[in-house]
Amino acid sequence: MFIEVNKLTKTYYVGNVKVTALKDVSFTLEKGGFYVVLGPSGSGKTTLMNILGGIDSADSGKVIIDGEDITSLDAKLLTNYRREKLGFVFQFYNLINSLTVYENVLSTKYLSKNGLDPKEVLETVGMWEHRDKFPFELSGGEQQRVAIARAVVKNPSLILCDEPTGALDFENAKRVLELLEDINRRYGTTIILSTHNTAISRMSNKIIRLRSGELIEFKDNPSPIPAKEVSW
Ligand code: ADP
Ligand code: MG
Repeated sequence: MFIEVNKLTKTYYVGNVKVTALKDVSFTLEKGGFYVVLGPSGSGKTTLMNILGGIDSADSGKVIIDGEDITSLDAKLLTNYRREKLGFVFQFYNLINSLTVYENVLSTKYLSKNGLDPKEVLETVGMWEHRDKFPFELSGGEQQRVAIARAVVKNPSLILCDEPTGALDFENAKRVLELLEDINRRYGTTIILSTHNTAISRMSNKIIRLRSGELIEFKDNPSPIPAKEVSW
């Protein structure tokens, strides 16, 4: 099993108010799949993604990724895990505004030992001809494609995409989904994508459905549809 999430619980306290962001969440995922975390706003998607990505910690429970218990790693080993194994794509792109497209992609390539050729990756996402532009010169959809290139160039075994289409119009959202599908197939990268959009879950191998921090459904999708057929 590539990913094992076992009884993951996370509570936030805001003043005296207790918010249970994740409660006893357990599931397992195989390597190379395309998986969707589905749930409305506030259901715990970002909390789950951040814990899987080692940028937030759980109160209890375990996350084992590729044989490594990331919930028990010290800061240094956790940094290594994020560098070597992981790519992250966020809703609002999070590009470095003072760097060009090419430099943004180059900035993560050397974090891992087996990084890919930035030119090849920028061509894959259709942004090679825009390589000398700065983020402010790009549309949201283009920025997200650069953000995907930046995640892919490290050649990670897992890419976490937290609402990657949440700020995009339909056409650009579709393009991003087709691209993630292509990367999943071409590089065999396991992809976990979070969304509130049920239509997107139809392209997933498994659906991880959250409500108020609880896993309310975990099911196989025996016949995932191609990204280009996803519609809403
Ligand atoms: P989603 O991504 O599905 O919208 P989140 O994981 O962001 O859900 O949030 C789950 C719950 O935890 C929400 O009720 C949210 O308000 C709360 N929450 C998330 N992060 C924090 C935080 N840093 N401090 C306090 N509450 C938080
Ligand atoms: Mg969120």
